[in-house]
Amino acid sequence: MTRTEIALVGEIGHSTGLLRRHGLLSIFCRIDDKQVPLYRVLWIAATPHFCGDAECQCEGMHEVALEGGESVWANFEERDRLMQMIEDWQNGPDL
Ligand SMILES: [Zn+2]
Repeated sequence: MTRTEIALVGEIGHSTGLLRRHGLLSIFCRIDDKQVPLYRVLWIAATPHFCGDAECQCEGMHEVALEGGESVWANFEERDRLMQMIEDWQNGPDL
């Protein structure tokens, strides 16, 4: 972003067009090749999945439960980004 754009973001506050375009306030977080809307996330596992099953594809991943009984699996990086995005989303763009 240029200095002008950063200043503009400060000015427009809650007007989210520019913020969204720069990815600062996207409502979607990409997890495991899916764009998940933040408001559909119910909870995020605090510890990585481990079940000992040799066939398991989710070993070491964090389960992210979504509304509707679905869940997706996030690696460490995706989980951290998701949690940060939800915090930013709850706090709003002014903080
Ligand atoms: Zn498993």
